[in-house]
Amino acid sequence: MILIFLGPPGAGKGTQAAHIVERYNIPQLSTGDMLRAAVAAQTPVGKKAKAVMDAGNLVSDDIVSAIVEERIEADDCAGGFLLDGFPRTDAQAEMLDVMLQKKERSVDVVIELKVDEAALLDRLNKRIEETRARGEAPRKDDTEETFKYRLQVYRDQTAPLIPFYERQGKLKDVDGMGSVDAVSAQIDAILDELGPSN
Ligand code: AMP
Repeated sequence: MILIFLGPPGAGKGTQAAHIVERYNIPQLSTGDMLRAAVAAQTPVGKKAKAVMDAGNLVSDDIVSAIVEERIEADDCAGGFLLDGFPRTDAQAEMLDVMLQKKERSVDVVIELKVDEAALLDRLNKRIEETRARGEAPRKDDTEETFKYRLQVYRDQTAPLIPFYERQGKLKDVDGMGSVDAVSAQIDAILDELGPSN
């Protein structure tokens, strides 16, 4: 099963991804996590990406696609994987289709987490408080100002993927405003419907 999560920053993609990883035993491929790891390790990619990420902008399509293409070669992706935070632009979606076609694979389903943007800001502030309470520093891009900018980037560059996948008949939407369990239950129902072959 190859699954994509779409949704604005803070919609709960990461939280729901953890549930899917456990239930379906497929890896979560979060390009945000991979890029943060590259920044922390100060790799050439990380050095290029750092300022772009801190400002809430998107890292170049070529860099991100190359990271994903390499990652999906790994053995643990043979039975499928969950893409969290990729693709984020039309160009990335097209690159993904091409890289999967080369392997005679394709995306099975795209789940859009629909959320109310005002509630996202509340969630953000809660997340910042929780991070501070654990004695950790919040992510550099987790400020209200950068968050609003990231929402705009989502609307401008990523939301156009919704009609793209709708046209492919792969889009399913989920109400992301309920409890974590309620959202998981909706996702499970969609995936169960896909059938055991996935
Ligand atoms: P995330 O953790 O998914 O919110 O990603 C954090 C940041 O990493 C984003 O604001 C971007 O700067 C960068 N990033 C993550 N995934 C992508 C992607 N698919 N394309 C471009 N930039 C990305």
